[in-house]
Amino acid sequence: MKDHDQRVDVLVEHRRRIDQALIDLRTRYPYQFPESLPLYMFEPEPGWVPLIEALCHNVDRILPPELRQTFAWRQIKEKFGTLRAYWSFGPQHFDIQPGSGVISGQIARKRPSSYESAWEAIEAAIRVAKQQSAQTCGACGAPGRHRSGDWQRTLCDRHAADQ
Ligand SMILES: [Zn+2]
Repeated sequence: MKDHDQRVDVLVEHRRRIDQALIDLRTRYPYQFPESLPLYMFEPEPGWVPLIEALCHNVDRILPPELRQTFAWRQIKEKFGTLRAYWSFGPQHFDIQPGSGVISGQIARKRPSSYESAWEAIEAAIRVAKQQSAQTCGACGAPGRHRSGDWQRTLCDRHAADQ
């Protein structure tokens, strides 16, 4: 167990790495991260930043140039130990915790006809990133696995021991 000051340091460092990731991603893919995206809507685990970079790169490859101005991330975060990435025309998501376990679902939104083939490809890229996050330590990016207790996170053995 870490003492209180060490925990605060970890949280400050965590936020610093996330903020820097957002600055870098916004520089590379400005249309994906418009200034209207509030800071609190970008709260992934720092260990997953490389997964998010790969996801943004994939989306950039999938989208034809004329669609880029209509694509934007709405929220990128950690939930129940895995990465969630929501975007302008993606489905709306919900998670319900009925005591034990989680029921996740999604509600389809009307897709613009211009997104015909890109839509599925983007959702597939998001699924891949989510699956990878389930095996990647959120703290450091090393191989990890899902841990549950009062919290749910995906962590390597070293960071699980720090909790
Ligand atoms: Zn770790």
